[in-house]
Amino acid sequence: MPYEYDDQNIFAKILRREIPNNTVMETDYTLAFHDINPAAPDHILVIPKGFYVNYDHFAAEATDAEVVDFTRVIGAISHAIKATPASGGNGYRLITNAGHDGVQDVPHMHMHIIAGRRLGRMIQPA
Ligand code: AMP
Repeated sequence: MPYEYDDQNIFAKILRREIPNNTVMETDYTLAFHDINPAAPDHILVIPKGFYVNYDHFAAEATDAEVVDFTRVIGAISHAIKATPASGGNGYRLITNAGHDGVQDVPHMHMHIIAGRRLGRMIQPA
């Protein structure tokens, strides 16, 4: 079943500038902004500007330029927030949720960059 993109989701409204965001970085293909409800001192959301529902949709249908740009923006932000272990940072976690079991709230593809404190084990017991 092909994905249907709901253009009334909150990130679509952010991309249309209908609601504000606290931008961290923007390129032709990608927008990164602070999460409104941060789970750690650094919590940034990275979204493609294209209309993809989740990661597998993005992986299947995004152009090479979109995929490369998205990946580079995540790398650049992890450096900018001084989280990269190679530069002496304490590390970070990337999370992308999809669908019901992934507990995805906003149906526009996004990657969470979370850092700034020790995050604990990856999956909490159910
Ligand atoms: P997910 O559960 O992976 O879909 O995560 C959605 C994330 O979007 C949550 O961490 C929310 O705090 C965040 N969020 C929702 N609305 C906004 C907004 N207007 N600006 C920034 N972050 C938002």
